Amino acid sequence: MIVDGHNDLVLRMWRGDGPLHIDLATATTTGFAGGFFALWIPWGAPFVEHEPPYDVPLAEPVPRDDARRIALELADVFETLPVSVARSVADFAPGHITAIMHLEGAEPLAPDLSDLEQWYARGLRSLGIVWSRRNAFGEGVPFRFPSVPDTGPGLTAAGRDLVAACNRLGILVDVSHLNEAGFWDVARVTDSPIVATHSNAHALCASSRNLTDDQLDAVAATGGVVGVNFAVGFLRADGRQDPDTPLTEIVRHVNYLVDRMGIDHVAFGSDFDGATVPDVLGGVEGLPALLDALRSSGHDEVALAKLASGNWLRVLAETWHSVA
Ligand code: ZN
Repeated sequence: MIVDGHNDLVLRMWRGDGPLHIDLATATTTGFAGGFFALWIPWGAPFVEHEPPYDVPLAEPVPRDDARRIALELADVFETLPVSVARSVADFAPGHITAIMHLEGAEPLAPDLSDLEQWYARGLRSLGIVWSRRNAFGEGVPFRFPSVPDTGPGLTAAGRDLVAACNRLGILVDVSHLNEAGFWDVARVTDSPIVATHSNAHALCASSRNLTDDQLDAVAATGGVVGVNFAVGFLRADGRQDPDTPLTEIVRHVNYLVDRMGIDHVAFGSDFDGATVPDVLGGVEGLPALLDALRSSGHDEVALAKLASGNWLRVLAETWHSVA
């Protein structure tokens, strides 16, 4: 069973595009059992993948009324998918797709958090404080290569309150897209494992979106997880958006993270339906070949089960503590 840290299928459906990487009708035959389904608000200049070196200005903030309106539309689309909405770890099962409602950037939320419980009631169980832009809670990393992730100020007071409120309700807090100052603010505030749903090792690919060794150590120290992102620009040492990228590039990041953090702290965070992934992977249909590549690099079945789903499910069980 494979549980994945990030996909953008909802955005594609909202736009009226079909799926690119996740065909829900056949996905279970590949072992895919769902995972985090992002609600991400498109705004301003369209998101474009760049060739390195690049230094893309931070995306424009989204006015809150627009953010809220679009997020509610995305949630409507999410609810039309032929999946089970995850409310407990027990909802995940082989042969069945279970979707975690994940807000990628908290700009739809009222800064005083007065609507967070409504979102929780609707099914929200995971939240990235920011995408790569500024909001009332913090600031994301701009897309830069090469660049460290230390690109701007940390969380606002509202952002620190948001982390504490998520801890209290049992909503997972995701640090992917957050800048380094914000990351350390999360580390100071949170009482749950630190999670990066779709980020890679900065030591192997010097993108602002990837995590430094110090950040990886901090994630592991809290019992958290990093979901390895299959986007080629965050995998390759040269940062190029080249779909002719072998599966061994994903294996390289998995193995680096396992060596650095331990086998209990690494999972998948595909970015399917939201980024350029290796052609040889395709989409979910390539997941069995990826597991074979990991097997060939020395991972036994116990390790593969942790990477494929066990680590995500452990962290979710710890984080969703308030869920009966
Ligand atoms: Zn993302």
